[in-house]
Amino acid sequence: MKVDLRSDTVTTPSPAMREEMARAKVGDDVYGEDPTVNSLEERVASLFGKEAALFTPTGSLANQLAIRMLVSPGEELLTETFSHIVRAELGAGAVFSGITTRTWLAPRGLLDADAVLAIAKPNSGPYQVSTTAIAVENTHNFGGGTIQPLSEIEKLSEGAREMGLRMHLDGARIWNAHVETGITFSVYGQYFDTVSVCLSKGLGAPIGSLMISTRDTVAKARVWRKRYGAGMRQIGILAAAGHFALDNNIPLLSRDHHRARLIAQECNRVAPSTVKPSEVETNIVILDLHQISISASELVASASEQGVSLSALGPKIARLVTHLDIDDSAAEYAGKVLSEILQSALMAQ
Ligand SMILES: *Cc1c(COP(=O)(O)O)cnc(C)c1O
Repeated sequence: MKVDLRSDTVTTPSPAMREEMARAKVGDDVYGEDPTVNSLEERVASLFGKEAALFTPTGSLANQLAIRMLVSPGEELLTETFSHIVRAELGAGAVFSGITTRTWLAPRGLLDADAVLAIAKPNSGPYQVSTTAIAVENTHNFGGGTIQPLSEIEKLSEGAREMGLRMHLDGARIWNAHVETGITFSVYGQYFDTVSVCLSKGLGAPIGSLMISTRDTVAKARVWRKRYGAGMRQIGILAAAGHFALDNNIPLLSRDHHRARLIAQECNRVAPSTVKPSEVETNIVILDLHQISISASELVASASEQGVSLSALGPKIARLVTHLDIDDSAAEYAGKVLSEILQSALMAQ
């Protein structure tokens, strides 16, 4: 059996999604004439209680366009140490926008508003870098799919507003937070000036993200998207996959969460130090191997021999992610394979 738990990006479009894509009405989106893109942008904007949205090929570009809109060259964005923006976008904020970042470290990526506000330095004059924006990742990927508490988001946004700072939400997996908490997208959206979301993660579209904000900010971002070389033409076929994902796949995410917990429980049963099932809030499981004599790359290699793929995030940290293409039997098999490997590592100690 092949079970690919490296990421929720590995899903392939279902036959029904492909049919919607094939049927899509299209036009030239650089001229603003693709009806399927236009309706997706309007749909996602209104879902988040915002005026406008912009389709982008990747979540990184959606984040980077938002950063470009919020932070001027030489100014500073605050973000968490293990956030996607600083760990997985290859320095794009520095390269494209000429900005600097300063980070705060949060256990499991979980937001502590006071800790963030304590390091913010707006209007720092000619001596120090001025902070102009704060980014929050929800759910937090490298933190283990953790959900940011709404009370902390609210507190941070109030503090930021008082200091004249702007707020960006990296909501690549905000869908997962929503199905787990029941908090609506517009409630999440109200605390942020810009939001990015991904259709290509747990929602199963082959490609597509959106950057969401005011009409004016999105109009400016549209110019920058073209400048960066991502003005696209008949992409209604891609937007149709996004519509299909929003129509059908959001409620399915709770099954991914259940299956992630199932795998975590199996690992916890034999090696309790590796993961606390209660800390698995969505579809990502982080295995901490510090207490047992196996490295992340050894675990990845042994699991792979039995058809189970996962990622090594660090020498002693492995990550697995459940998604649309993982059913109950695949999750059970992965739990069995991983717990057996962990058990033999423990017995060899
Ligand atoms: C996947 C992801 C993105 C966007 O990644 P792309 O591969 O550029 O689409 C942004 N933020 C987070 C937290 C992610 O997990």
